[in-house]
Amino acid sequence: MESASLGSTPPPWAKAPPPKKAKPYEARYEYEIPSKKPPETHPAGATVCASALPRNATEHSLMQCVVCERPLCSTEDLAFFWRANKQGGVEVHLMLKPENQEPATFIQAPITDKNAMASWQCTCGFKFGDTRAVAVRKAEMSAFKSSSIMLCGQRFTGRKSQWPSIYNRPPFNAIEVRTRDTFFGTTPASGSAS
Ligand SMILES: [Zn+2]
Repeated sequence: MESASLGSTPPPWAKAPPPKKAKPYEARYEYEIPSKKPPETHPAGATVCASALPRNATEHSLMQCVVCERPLCSTEDLAFFWRANKQGGVEVHLMLKPENQEPATFIQAPITDKNAMASWQCTCGFKFGDTRAVAVRKAEMSAFKSSSIMLCGQRFTGRKSQWPSIYNRPPFNAIEVRTRDTFFGTTPASGSAS
C-alpha cells in the first residue's frame, strides 16, 4: 500500500525556508530587546536593593550624606523605632525598615565598628550608619545617628541624638514610627504570642 497520503510530504516549494536576506538596517531596532543592566556589585559585596530612589524624590523626602549631600535613600525606606528602655527613658532610633535591604547607595565599610554586624558608608567615604543586633529579640537594625545624615533637607548639630526630640514634629512626623510590636512592619500579629 502506498502511504503517500495527501499532505504528508509537502511540496518542495512549501518546505523551502524563506530566503534569508539581510534585514534593512533600520529594521534591527524593531526587535531590539531592552538591554538589561548587569547586576551591580559592590567592592565589599553588599547586597543591592532593588528599589531605586523615587523619581520625584526631593530633598524633603530624602536621607542624605551629611558630608557630600548625596542622596542615600528615601524617607519611605526609613522608620523611627521608638521604645521605652529599662532605665525608664525613651529611645528613638532612625532605622532602615527591617524589611528593606540596604540600597546600593549604602556601601559596606571595610572596617566594621565594634559590636556592629556591618558599617555603612557613603561613596565619599563618610560612615553614616551601622547594623547591630539590638532591636526586638536581637533583630538586626541598621540605624543612623542624627549627626551623620541630613534628613528632609535638614542637618542636626550636636553629638546627642536629635531623634527623640524631633521624630514627632513636621516634616519628620511623615516618617513611619514603629514600636516593639510593629518593628517588622504591619504584618498582623499571629495568635501565637508567647
Ligand atoms: Zn557622602
